[in-house]
Amino acid sequence: MSVVAFDQREGWIWFDGELVPWQDAKLHVLSHGLHYGSSVFEGERAYDGTIFKSTEHSERFRHSAEIMDFEIPYSVAELDAAKALCVEKNGDPNVYVRPVAWRGSEMMAVAAQSATVHVAIGVWPWPSMFDMATKMKGIRLDLAEWRRPDPRTAPSSAKAAGLYMIATLSKHAAERKGYADALMLDWQGRVAECTGANVFFTRDGQLHTPIADCFLDGITRRTVIDLARSRGIETVEHRIMPDELSAFNECFICGTGAEVTPVSEIGPHRFQPGNISQTLVEDYSAAVRPQANAA
Ligand code: PMP
Repeated sequence: MSVVAFDQREGWIWFDGELVPWQDAKLHVLSHGLHYGSSVFEGERAYDGTIFKSTEHSERFRHSAEIMDFEIPYSVAELDAAKALCVEKNGDPNVYVRPVAWRGSEMMAVAAQSATVHVAIGVWPWPSMFDMATKMKGIRLDLAEWRRPDPRTAPSSAKAAGLYMIATLSKHAAERKGYADALMLDWQGRVAECTGANVFFTRDGQLHTPIADCFLDGITRRTVIDLARSRGIETVEHRIMPDELSAFNECFICGTGAEVTPVSEIGPHRFQPGNISQTLVEDYSAAVRPQANAA
């Protein structure tokens, strides 16, 4: 299968306020964001031309930058409009949407107070990862060796590029062993999240999920909690230790990319994707396409 590299594709990128031809969206090698990790990003999906929870993502984008001590020079409304424009201009109504912001080249040392902040938005096709039958078999997760850092060690609530260093290492290790992804513990040894998605378990008809105190409190995570509540399923957020995993029946991960994806295995633990997971897979796919369901 030949894959076209991301810098070789056709289309339009929104770059510092204007749409530019895809292959012209370049930055200089001496950019602070590249050397010092001063970069934040978002991951969103447009369904039938509408970005799901666009405003929440724009707010989180600006908030991540604030945590990283820089300001994105566009308002939430401007970002929402730019993303919508980018989706429209590229012509595919079902795409993944990737806003990214980084510090530029005016200063190339640890301090970069006066470096300018740049913003780009790219979109590309990324279909749902599995059909329903494959999905309900569940994916297999490795247990990662890297741990989510103490919030005093890294700005863990920002969607900051640097935090993905350990996610990439964990995902590579998992894939080398034949797993789809890895579950990461936190600095205290508690269950935290996957490399790019949050995790839920079920027991006695309730959902259980770790408290998001040192990892990303995903927009999908909050959506799932709301969807479950409207089905009368309560979510308990609490400390979950890895040796408690065998007490759960079902497990799924969720995130913009993963949507809701059941899990069959985490290291030595086995789960049986069941009714609660299937209900939430279906309710989430209905929630992201409200027009299709109203019609
Ligand atoms: N955790 C991490 C590390 C992620 O990268 C993501 C994907 N953005 C999530 C959780 C899920 O977040 P969301 O539901 O907002 O996409």
